[in-house]
Amino acid sequence: MRSPSGSDGARGPDRSGSPPAPGPPSDARRLEARLPGTRYAPPFDVLHALERVLDEPDVARIAVVYRPWYVASHLAFIGARFGSVTRPGRIYTNLPESLFFKMDAHVLHEYFHVVQQWGRERMTAFSYLLRCRQREREAAEFAAAHLARYQALRKAAAAASGAAVET
Ligand SMILES: [Zn+2]
Repeated sequence: MRSPSGSDGARGPDRSGSPPAPGPPSDARRLEARLPGTRYAPPFDVLHALERVLDEPDVARIAVVYRPWYVASHLAFIGARFGSVTRPGRIYTNLPESLFFKMDAHVLHEYFHVVQQWGRERMTAFSYLLRCRQREREAAEFAAAHLARYQALRKAAAAASGAAVET
């Protein structure tokens, strides 16, 4: 529920290429033609790693949906333009699909909101508002604490299948 910009691991889609990696804003603008309401398909190594890190067997049931205007209107309150907003069972984002799943810390942060807070703790919109700073801190701490293991799990899953993990 916050901008991916800052210290949570946001980066361009290609760190090994020659030109500097584009940041989220230019990428999002370029791909804004995507139809709002499109549901993203998480790569299998992302699902594999999330299921283990969150100890949640069915992460694939969580919908990641492109809803640019909805997300932008919510993020405006915190002065951000690009990022994601969570609800029970779903993540709304205005980040392009190709970028979203490469932002490991952001993915962990948002899925934690859905699986742990909206899900296991039955968080409501009202209770989130009452304790939003604490809720955001919990998500940020979870992402920071599990980032290395998550990235290792993604790499291992991709290596086992012969696919390359794009990070
Ligand atoms: Zn958040």
